Amino acid sequence: MQKILNYIGGELVPPNSQKWLDKPEPATAEPYALVPDSDETDVQRAVEAASRAFPAWAATPAADRSRLLRRVADAIRSRMEAFARAESTDTGKPLSVASTVDIPRSILNFEFFADAATQFSSEAHATDTVALNYTLRSPLGVVGCISPWNLPLYLFTWKIAPALAVGNCVVAKPSEVTPMTAFLLSEVCREVGLPPGVLNIVHGLGNKVGAALSRHPEIRAISFTGSTRVGAEIARTAAPLFKKISLEMGGKNPNVIFADCDFDEALATTLRSSFANQGQICLCGPRIFVQAPIYERFKEALVARTRALKVGDPLEPGTDQGALVSQQHFDKVMSYIELARKEGGRVLTGGGRARVEGRCRNGWFVEPTLVEGLGPECRTNQEEIFGPVATLTPFEKEEEVLAWANATRYGLAASVWTKDLGRAHRFAALLHSGIVWINCWMLRDLRTPFGGVKDSGVGREGGHEVLRFFTEPKNVCVKL
Ligand code: NAD
Repeated sequence: MQKILNYIGGELVPPNSQKWLDKPEPATAEPYALVPDSDETDVQRAVEAASRAFPAWAATPAADRSRLLRRVADAIRSRMEAFARAESTDTGKPLSVASTVDIPRSILNFEFFADAATQFSSEAHATDTVALNYTLRSPLGVVGCISPWNLPLYLFTWKIAPALAVGNCVVAKPSEVTPMTAFLLSEVCREVGLPPGVLNIVHGLGNKVGAALSRHPEIRAISFTGSTRVGAEIARTAAPLFKKISLEMGGKNPNVIFADCDFDEALATTLRSSFANQGQICLCGPRIFVQAPIYERFKEALVARTRALKVGDPLEPGTDQGALVSQQHFDKVMSYIELARKEGGRVLTGGGRARVEGRCRNGWFVEPTLVEGLGPECRTNQEEIFGPVATLTPFEKEEEVLAWANATRYGLAASVWTKDLGRAHRFAALLHSGIVWINCWMLRDLRTPFGGVKDSGVGREGGHEVLRFFTEPKNVCVKL
């Protein structure tokens, strides 16, 4: 069985406790790796290594840091197959998704921030002829990055790459549920010669490793992506220590389909935005609102397309839907399907465990599920299920669906389908969401701000804003 190791001070090391957590493969439910059960002492060693590495890394010219980050990107690309396979085995997602989405986007994270760091500029303000102010931006020091299991390498590297690019040293904690690609990344960093201590990766449980990072006095910032519950906990711990915090949290996104939409495009994309990665993407749109004149036709077509999705072994090329990430998450999603029924929902398709033959017969597969007949205020439509479960609701008027779309605690992303240009812009402005997609879904440009409003997040980031988050501004005022 593969033993994952921590990456501290440039070395691959076991946890201080010498204890390990079982890591099962979601598609088979069989253990396939051991994850370090690290604790505060491992975090302390990592912070010390990062602190030692910081002065030299911060003083390294941006162009040299950038070249090293590009070498990391190139090394991941040259081991693309191994990374994609690890991501698929670790998460249960189809290999086709890992190799076309997750790993390429992770590479892009390093490339984008390697370039951005060389073009990072700061501001100058001339106060008439009296004074000249300019802003110096310096790295913060040692920063903590905590990421979730759903897009493990992609979200992990989206934090690490900008933090390193501007000269910070990092102690990072991947999800204990999906540790494998972070481990491969640590091997890559050693291979390309990243100086020891610049990046440190400590594996283990959130309430041990994550909590130790949040409260460590020498960690100057925490960049977190994960659930709203844990985000709130990190904020409670880190705020009194005056750390900078960026929190990217849960969502329950609306997908609003007007009768004048491009039907085929809306249908094909709704299938993806409901079920991509088994619905385990924070940007998925599980609340589908369809305008009355096309409701029945859309519903019938969506049900047919959903039934045609092939649930199966994630490593097989023809698989559309893989396994859910863990037994615990499988149980949670199944309990929400039960709740939807109790709340009076009619299951149009799916609604149960998906049976897969062969090596995957014990895996955590759930049928892609569509439910109708539920009000926007019920728990099924309010709480984040984070699985292959979407609801369909007809609507008549724009004002009515706007109120429903906005009626949750979350505000991460939304999709709107219409050919009416005026309505598209009007609606986008009125939605309580950090991101609005008009006639598309999940198109991303790393230069744009990403993140949610309300309980979905604070500290919105995009392009150079991410770099700013990882720096400390200092104003220098010169009297003329
Ligand atoms: P989670 O909050 O349970 O865990 C996220 C990370 O935090 C993990 O590494 C975990 O070990 C760590 N953690 C747990 N308890 C901690 C604590 N007390 N202190 C510090 N760290 C702790 O989330 P998850 O189940 O891994 O991921 C799913 C969630 O992530 C969903 O809510 C999803 O919407 C959200 N998500 C949000 C975005 C976004 O960009 N907004 C992107 C992806 C996922």
